[in-house]
Amino acid sequence: MKLLEDRIRREGLVKPGNVLKVDSFLNHQMDIALFNEMGKEFKRLFPSEKINKILTIEASGIGIACIAAQYFNVPVVFAKKSQSLNLDGEMYVTKIESFTHKRVYDVIVSAKYLGQEDHVLIIDDFLANGCAVAGLIDLVQSAGAVVEGVGIAVEKGFQEGGKLLRSKGVRVESLAIVDAMDERTGEIVFRKQ
Ligand code: 5GP
Repeated sequence: MKLLEDRIRREGLVKPGNVLKVDSFLNHQMDIALFNEMGKEFKRLFPSEKINKILTIEASGIGIACIAAQYFNVPVVFAKKSQSLNLDGEMYVTKIESFTHKRVYDVIVSAKYLGQEDHVLIIDDFLANGCAVAGLIDLVQSAGAVVEGVGIAVEKGFQEGGKLLRSKGVRVESLAIVDAMDERTGEIVFRKQ
């Protein structure tokens, strides 16, 4: 998605540890006009009428998922990161290691909001090693629901997550794929899609 790539080129900062910082429009301040275009693009990429729920993970996925949901006319459920399992009632739990914080979280969704009838589109801001998305898939499968696909804003294609998920037959669509980035020069190379 050229609009997103251009924005990353202009404002993205390459940080040590393979972290791309996009706080000015995606991860701290949010550009809603851009999110709106991203939402439209997700709908174009996942036109299936079967999708009846979007699942994301707090915090940064929520804004993107909510704007996208307006094009799908479906509710958004966000998985909660928690160190104590304090949701009432039956819930699904998985463990996710945070790429940016290097911590393992219990991630939970109430069984009230995810069930056998659901056809789920997973949305997240970044795909790196794939741990967050793998955890979300685990939650969907625990609930007996179906993963219809995974929509990602920025995939770091030089990390393993995308390859791993696609090799398992998961449909992953990323609006921008970074194939290389240089911490020293700040250069960012995108995959042609
Ligand atoms: P994964 O679980 O795929 O290794 O990492 C994905 C999660 O880590 C995303 O939910 C995102 O919040 C965070 N993340 C991974 N890499 C980056 C990055 O380069 N920049 C930012 N801003 N977040 C990242």
